[in-house]
Amino acid sequence: MNQQCELCEKDVYGELGVYSGDRNGIAVIMIKETSTRNWILCDSCSVLVCHSCCTRPETGYCNECIDRYKLSFDEEGRLRDP
Ligand SMILES: [Zn+2]
Ligand SMILES: [Zn+2]
Repeated sequence: MNQQCELCEKDVYGELGVYSGDRNGIAVIMIKETSTRNWILCDSCSVLVCHSCCTRPETGYCNECIDRYKLSFDEEGRLRDP
């Protein structure tokens, strides 16, 4: 099943790969982010939005939360303290 952007309903691609395995008899789960992912899951409201619906995808927040909380970021996408 494809995931879709919750704003424009376009299919998104790339996902978090979850690998489970066993290391020395201990079950381990590894999560690896693929570099081709074109969407984010907003850190604040958990909405799934594609990069075209989000002006600052590198921050991990959707536009709505950036507006709502008046978040500001530096050039590298790090949250700036108010
Ligand atoms: Zn979208
Ligand atoms: Zn949000």
